[in-house]
Amino acid sequence: MKILMVVSELSPYVKTGGLADMVSSLSRELVRNGNDVRALIPFYGSIEERWRRNMRPLASPLCVHMGQERWARVHETIERCGLHVYFLEHHHYFDRERPYDSCYGAYGDNGERFAFLCRAAIDLPSLIDWIPDVFHCHDWMASLVPVYLETVVRHGPLGNSASVLTVHNLEHQGYGDKSIVQMAGLPQWTFRPDGLEACGAVNFLKGGIYFANKLTTVSPSYGEEIKTAEGGFGLDGALRFRGGDIIGILNGIDCEVWDPATDSALAANYSSKNISAKSTCKSALQKMCHLDERQSAPLFGVISRLHWQKGLDTLCDAMEWILAHMDIQFALLGAGQWQLEERFRLLANRHSGKMFAAIGYDEELAHRIEAGCDFFIMPSRFEPCGLNQLYSLRYGTLPIVRATGGLRDTVQNYGNCEDCGTGFVFNDLTADAIRGTIRWACDTYHRAPAHMAAMIRRAMESDFSWSRSAIRYCECYRWALQSKS
Ligand code: ADP
Repeated sequence: MKILMVVSELSPYVKTGGLADMVSSLSRELVRNGNDVRALIPFYGSIEERWRRNMRPLASPLCVHMGQERWARVHETIERCGLHVYFLEHHHYFDRERPYDSCYGAYGDNGERFAFLCRAAIDLPSLIDWIPDVFHCHDWMASLVPVYLETVVRHGPLGNSASVLTVHNLEHQGYGDKSIVQMAGLPQWTFRPDGLEACGAVNFLKGGIYFANKLTTVSPSYGEEIKTAEGGFGLDGALRFRGGDIIGILNGIDCEVWDPATDSALAANYSSKNISAKSTCKSALQKMCHLDERQSAPLFGVISRLHWQKGLDTLCDAMEWILAHMDIQFALLGAGQWQLEERFRLLANRHSGKMFAAIGYDEELAHRIEAGCDFFIMPSRFEPCGLNQLYSLRYGTLPIVRATGGLRDTVQNYGNCEDCGTGFVFNDLTADAIRGTIRWACDTYHRAPAHMAAMIRRAMESDFSWSRSAIRYCECYRWALQSKS
């Protein structure tokens, strides 16, 4: 099948979260399975020189048929695996350091910028003489693609192309003034409650939800949660309406990038057959993070965007008491809301030797934390899939998670026995619940080493590779194509 991924970020070129990893590793797996996969992303100013060196510009510029014609240059990279990546260059829209926002908040013209990306996805195929069977669109930034396909280009060369929209995070929906409809060159009738309109404004994601041929979410539980008033962020009605067309497919991980047996960022490599070197990783991490170098202290890790979604404000509430009363250590890596950054910085200052906080973004340190910790905490308010708990399982670092979305689907709760569990699961997002679960994990660590060892082995041997999920995406693409014909 010919599949065009339309996405606002893609690893390794530009990444702000799990979206970039997911699309990159799914695309590669689909190529490995014999599909012709290409991806279109904006050419941001922040894309590093080392990636720019491998790009070549297409011979002709791309005419993007918004309300008014606009022109862009497109650059192409062909990755070693065979994935073609197209970078959409438009100085005014994309030559910026960060994809969505600056220090003053979200860019005011995000609607226009990503409408441009969507329309470019529609115009690219004729320029490169390659008609996709399926446009796989990701989140609100690509949500106008299905709207174009079902309206203005319905009877052209793309008439048989289907669309699949994956909802990675319903919280972000993409709002804009209703003038965007005209600016984007879409018919006015699309601005209606069962289309692009929400509260008098344009809601990109809502349009995608109504117009895409099929919808997916990144875990089965999240697919159910978004249909409820509690998890629907105002779009639960639209999602219930499309309920029969939504499937939840669990994200996989890139098992080559995240492999403790070969990971070059680690002080030592290990595998489920021989995990003894994991303790070397722990010592190295303790040293690097200025924590007391003791194997006996259970070490807990967090790597996260510091955002309301992640429940880390409640973790902070719990940590003051935990750090004062328990013999445990924390290593945190994250960036985001300044209030949370400040709270973690203060905690680390007050509890040096027990708590380390790196505020920033650091891929290498992320690998070291995954390998060096004993436990990994994710107390998310909601979690569409979550990647870090999957990396943690693969690195034998037992996840402590709240039962929501993908966390619920991927971590089996410990049941005080040797043959069950890959982590610790709690229900309520309260400081009490977090404290209690951390205490439970510590007790298990000290009192039931055989149970711990069995859990670590089971966690490391869980299969979260893309092979199964990529097959399910192919089924979904076929299903979308059938609903088109
Ligand atoms: P989300 O997409 O909601 O941020 P995910 O768990 O799906 O959450 O994916 C987060 C990805 O971003 C993971 O690959 C994680 O390792 C990475 N990540 C998040 N924050 C940082 C950070 N400060 N430094 C390095 N990697 C980070």
